[in-house]
Amino acid sequence: MPTSSASSAREILTGLHEVMASKAAAQAKLNKVVKIIAEAMRSEVCSIYLLRDGVLELYATVGLKQDAVHVTKLALGEGLVGTIAEDVAILNLDEATRHPEFAYRPETGEEVFHSFAGVPIVRRERAIGVLAVQHAESRAYDDVEIEALQTVAMVLSELIANAGLADRATTAADKARDSGAIRLQGLKLVSGMARGTAVFHQPRILIEHTVAEDTEAERQRVYSAFRKMREQIDQMTSQAEFGTAGEHQEILETYKMFAYDEGWSRRINEAIDSGLTAEAAIERVQQRTRMRMREIDDPLLAERMHDLDDLANRLLRIVSGRLGTAAQMGLQQDAILIARNLGPAELLEYDKRRLKGVILEEGSLTAHVTIVARAMGVPMLGRVRNIRQAISEGDEILLDTGEGAAFVRPSTALDDAFEAKLLAGQRRRAEYAALRDLPPVTKDGTRVSVMVNAGLRDDVAALDVTGADGIGLFRTEFQFLVSATLPRRESQQRLYKSVIDAAGDRPVIFRTIDIGGDKALPYLKVEDHEDEENPAMGWRALRLALDRDGLMKAQARALLEASAGRELNVMFPMVSEPWEFDEARNLVEGQRQWLAERKKPLPRAIRYGAMLEVPALAETLDLLLPKLDFLSIGTNDLTQFLFAADRAHPKLAERYDWLSPAILRFLRRVVRMANSHGVPVGICGEMGGRPLEAMALIGLGLRRLSITPIAVGQIKAMIRSTDLSVLAPAVNTLLDAPPADMRAELTALAEQQGVILG
Ligand code: PEP
Ligand code: MG
Repeated sequence: MPTSSASSAREILTGLHEVMASKAAAQAKLNKVVKIIAEAMRSEVCSIYLLRDGVLELYATVGLKQDAVHVTKLALGEGLVGTIAEDVAILNLDEATRHPEFAYRPETGEEVFHSFAGVPIVRRERAIGVLAVQHAESRAYDDVEIEALQTVAMVLSELIANAGLADRATTAADKARDSGAIRLQGLKLVSGMARGTAVFHQPRILIEHTVAEDTEAERQRVYSAFRKMREQIDQMTSQAEFGTAGEHQEILETYKMFAYDEGWSRRINEAIDSGLTAEAAIERVQQRTRMRMREIDDPLLAERMHDLDDLANRLLRIVSGRLGTAAQMGLQQDAILIARNLGPAELLEYDKRRLKGVILEEGSLTAHVTIVARAMGVPMLGRVRNIRQAISEGDEILLDTGEGAAFVRPSTALDDAFEAKLLAGQRRRAEYAALRDLPPVTKDGTRVSVMVNAGLRDDVAALDVTGADGIGLFRTEFQFLVSATLPRRESQQRLYKSVIDAAGDRPVIFRTIDIGGDKALPYLKVEDHEDEENPAMGWRALRLALDRDGLMKAQARALLEASAGRELNVMFPMVSEPWEFDEARNLVEGQRQWLAERKKPLPRAIRYGAMLEVPALAETLDLLLPKLDFLSIGTNDLTQFLFAADRAHPKLAERYDWLSPAILRFLRRVVRMANSHGVPVGICGEMGGRPLEAMALIGLGLRRLSITPIAVGQIKAMIRSTDLSVLAPAVNTLLDAPPADMRAELTALAEQQGVILG
């Protein structure tokens, strides 16, 4: 028996090298291969089964009857060989017949052989065949022998793929296609539908050459790749800068641990000793890890193994010189991007015209990348498990995040249904687009202002596309979120000016930065921050800005400079008590003073607003309203605080309705108060972008809605089909004595009145 896997594999690989280089036909090559392996492993039997036409066919053997070649066939999952291929797992048995899946095939004459060891021949993480050895004596195989078989299987995979022996149309992936689409379930992060080809953010490397010409040279390549990888990881951890990689600190720490793990580099080295190329050695070790991964029950440990898998892919990309992300290589066609996680800056690198959707293994509703994807209008599905096992690069994918689903390699029937749904959506959008130049006026002649929420420079285009009345909420923190370092005052000023210029006569309401809590900026050293248990209720938005006024002063100056000669609309987030508004206003006024003293150009006028997001403010609104030029209700935060229900918690997402009497009555009270003080009041939360909700809002007296751009057409259609003289009294009556199901009543009212809800 061989003493080490390296020497055993090496002996076989040396033989294989010659076979692969020879001009012989594929069948002849495989006949030689089984002989070489059997001799090296001193086994009575060595056989190769290949997956052809969906079944595993005995393709070459020594030891079994030659008559069985091309005759013995096993389905995936059938017998020992079928089990190995289906599970992409090893079998090591001292008594083959005792295995529950053992299927006796008399034509092979295998009854005299007791022990059996088989390994899958893997291509693109799927089995395209099986390599098996058998002995007459009953014995379990050593790890070193199994390892040698796996190494050989890897080389065989190259030979088989190059010779086109395993029919591509009958690989496991295609079998899945024949048996219908795989449906992956996830969490809707950004709603929408999209069709495209799977593109991995960090592409997987397909190994072209497995057998080394020069082992020492391969070793040096791996050493240098390890050095580079460690440098990269060190840099990422030390910077821990927002947006560099999109990985969390915790993952970076794990990367670091693995990057310096001596065991890992030693195993790769051993694989090189056995005669593999650097790429094949890394992949070989990784295959073993993946197989272990499948056996691990502990989710935490499995998670760590995923990290190692990620890192191995990085090492492979370094060693093969294919470093870029899919964004850097450029998208060639409509793409659904697949990633474990992404940073917002990484997402912004993609060509918007070709990026149709995103599927993440991680992701959460309030993650920065989600906010950016929403702003870009790219549907996004998160928390999808096992994407890398289920999806291959180039797979066709239908994404329907509204259903929380991604369909991989869809059947024709599914494809047709999807297309019909997509077309219906497009048709509806085209109808809405036709409303672009029509004003949002109700049937009884009330003009409602429909504005858009924005935050990125490109969002401004939405104004012209939708024909909206202006930007009702410009989330200035987006610039901070997508930047790797604190944006300088000059770059803030440039952004604001370009937005104001693009908006022309239409108003833009800038909200001062709402950072902190879940929108923390790692480059901003804010101690006390990390340990917040309830970040949404924490030290964020105006609270943070007033305590750290340097940031706010710079922003105020940038806003004033950018609005020179124009009207500046500025509002403050999360005002909880009137004094906070006073302080914020004084701070901006202080900057205006500073500029005035230096004879710098100033805005023609400044209009100050507050956001009502904290319920407590409603109780002192009579004190605040006289100081305000406008009030904007942020229903996203307001709802979570009214109901004490985290807005990012998936389990609570559907629990409380925006149309609950609690919210509607609260809003009615605020609108009445604002009206009595003659202060314009609007809504800038997501609620305003939903037709039925928006109908209730205008029924309550709201005349300004600032909404997500995609909803403008729909909301305009709703407004233009509504008669407020009927709706307003009806909504108020319903609120005075609320029915059990407010949503159902409002829906019935809309139907009765012929209101278009889309
Ligand atoms: C809100 O809370 O409703 C709001 C508009 O602000 P944001 O979603 O940015 O917190
Ligand atoms: Mg808010």
